[in-house]
Amino acid sequence: DAVIRCEKLGKTYAEGNLRTPVFADLELSVARGETVAIVGASGAGKSTLLHLLGGLDAPTEGEVFVAGRSMSKLGDRARGELRNQALGFIYQFHHLLPEFTALENVMMPLLIAGRPVAQAAAKARGLLERVGLGARLDHKPGELSGGERQRAAVARALVNDPACVLGDEPTGNLDERTAATVFELMLELNREQGTSLVLVTHDRRLARRLDRTLELTGGRLHPLTPDEV
Ligand code: ADP
Ligand code: ADP
Repeated sequence: DAVIRCEKLGKTYAEGNLRTPVFADLELSVARGETVAIVGASGAGKSTLLHLLGGLDAPTEGEVFVAGRSMSKLGDRARGELRNQALGFIYQFHHLLPEFTALENVMMPLLIAGRPVAQAAAKARGLLERVGLGARLDHKPGELSGGERQRAAVARALVNDPACVLGDEPTGNLDERTAATVFELMLELNREQGTSLVLVTHDRRLARRLDRTLELTGGRLHPLTPDEV
């Protein structure tokens, strides 16, 4: 019952004559409710892997299955729907839309999924309250602190009840205390809703709190023992 599964996944960037092989033959399976850290040196291919898992880029070999469906075999529209329905994304920089309020930003994935406005607003408001932003609903990203923006981004990532959240250094841009708060929030939502987490992080303390840690190095994914993390 994997939420995400990779089969013989490979990626080589090609620009003109320049070929950059990043990884090959990666196998990864993330179970429902499981939390996985991906660590590795800068340039190892962590962001590339996360982009492939999220269907933002196509692999050069192998396949990614999300909720049992092959991303590469779907058309653009169906892939977009699957991403919107099954996955949530949290980046180092929040990617909230500056001209919209916190509430509108969090409602957006539901509106895209075709839910009625009143229902989307109620759900988004509930989640924003849950992340401690109940008094900031009508603030635009520019009127929020860094931690508040990142918490709004967490709410947006979770508003569709995704099976899995993909995070690329989701707390990397925050001071230590705010990072800890945002991280604890993700763990709580994992515990309460069974949302799987796949987090790229360079923070080993954060990685240690997750179910398992994989190191991407030399184009391979190596499981680390708890002692190695
Ligand atoms: P990490 O996230 O671990 O720092 P990346 O996935 O960003 O690593 O990059 C892995 C390798 O792929 C690096 O050598 C990087 O230069 C290269 N790379 C990343 N994106 C592109 C791209 N769009 N075109 C060409 N090469 C890329
Ligand atoms: P310790 O060094 O004993 O882990 P800290 O006070 O530094 O204690 O951290 C307290 C908690 O906050 C720890 O459980 C840790 O996992 C978490 N934490 C610390 N720094 C970060 C960070 N940058 N991102 C997310 N969580 C963090």
